[in-house]
Amino acid sequence: MKSIALLGSTGSIGVNVLNIVRKHPKLYRIVGLAAGSNAKLAAEQVREFAPVVVSMATREKADELGELLAGDKPRILFGESGIREVATTRGTDLLFSAVVGAAGLPPTWAALDSGIDVALANKETLVTAGPLILDLVRRRKVSLFPVDSEHSAVFQSLVGHNKGDIEKIILTASGGPFRGRDPKTFDDITPDEAMAHPTWNMGAKITIDSATLMNKGLEVIEARWLFDTPPGRIGVVIHPDSIIHSMVEFRDGQIIAQLGMPDMRGPIAYALSYPERLPDVMPKLDLTAIGRLNFHEVDGRAFPCLGLAYKALEMSPDAPAVLNGANEAAVAAFLGKKIRFTDIPKIVGKTMETESGYSLSNLIEVMEADARARKTAGRLIRELKPERLKIENAPNYP
Ligand code: NDP
Ligand code: MG
Repeated sequence: MKSIALLGSTGSIGVNVLNIVRKHPKLYRIVGLAAGSNAKLAAEQVREFAPVVVSMATREKADELGELLAGDKPRILFGESGIREVATTRGTDLLFSAVVGAAGLPPTWAALDSGIDVALANKETLVTAGPLILDLVRRRKVSLFPVDSEHSAVFQSLVGHNKGDIEKIILTASGGPFRGRDPKTFDDITPDEAMAHPTWNMGAKITIDSATLMNKGLEVIEARWLFDTPPGRIGVVIHPDSIIHSMVEFRDGQIIAQLGMPDMRGPIAYALSYPERLPDVMPKLDLTAIGRLNFHEVDGRAFPCLGLAYKALEMSPDAPAVLNGANEAAVAAFLGKKIRFTDIPKIVGKTMETESGYSLSNLIEVMEADARARKTAGRLIRELKPERLKIENAPNYP
């Protein structure tokens, strides 16, 4: 029986983690849950999974959760200290880190530092603090299991192989909803259009990142640290079918790829059950129904965010954290209809130029780089003139 603390339980990944746990009550039990603002869903989850501790983003939401729960209640906490306590709940065998954004770093760090293995969906942890996390994992002798589908694919392709034999890690990208669209029309892209991802159903932030290809950039940085591989050996290929989730090319010229339906339950289950596999996790792949698989080069000019991520890895140790903080601010502003789709890379690029250039030696310095980036990106967003925007009447996203 594995005891699991789950951060981001009310999100797209979190709900799928609980779907798997529900199917295997003899294998997994939930000891801690953390959510942001969805107290109603959190209350249902607490009733069903009976954790010993639960945390919400704010005191108000924690109070709301307390009111929704009758009878025996778990400890109800809130804020940064609350989520950290959930992440390090006594008796936890595995932290499943599926909060969105840089908010996931401190609790994930705390769990690793306490000797708890982590299943990592929160890619921002490795993007912002990659080398420090790598060092922490080594010092504490803990395991980090990738949940991101690409990294799970690479992880699976590497089983039984030597890292020294890797020639190249090849990450696949669907290309998002704007692959093939005339870049001259990108100024007019609405949040609604950007939210319509062709193959994956995900939370709002990562869906916009997939449309700008920043998601692939974040994944290049994530892979750089997770597999301790230099950026020059990490490539990206557009694969609109989203059937091959990534590959490893070895030095003898052979490539191992991992295939499956685009369904996050696959990588989630593998991170939970490694090195074993669970039965009937997701629909099986019908290769003859698919017929053929397609691959294209990335159009780096139309999607400059990917290049910015490679650049961040070259610039300075803090540049990826700055890129990430600026991107989070820019994506929120785009979803709030304050900037255009094409402003996202401009804001990120400018913020990187002015705010990066420092070393990173501890968690506080990472959080400082993140805060610096958000502040400058916020100023750049405010300086943009709202009348340039053509986006009207679009719905609001969390
Ligand atoms: P969602 O937006 O669907 O969910 C985010 C979760 O984080 C929600 O439970 C939300 O709570 C919670 N949350 C947000 N802010 C806070 C906070 N300050 N304190 C506590 N909880 C908070 O995101 P996804 O599930 O899509 O993504 C989660 C992570 O997984 C991201 O880092 C993403 O990049 C990564 N990932 C996601 C994939 C996917 O298919 N969805 C694929 C690969 C990686 P609430 O809703 O209650 O406010
Ligand atoms: Mg991914």
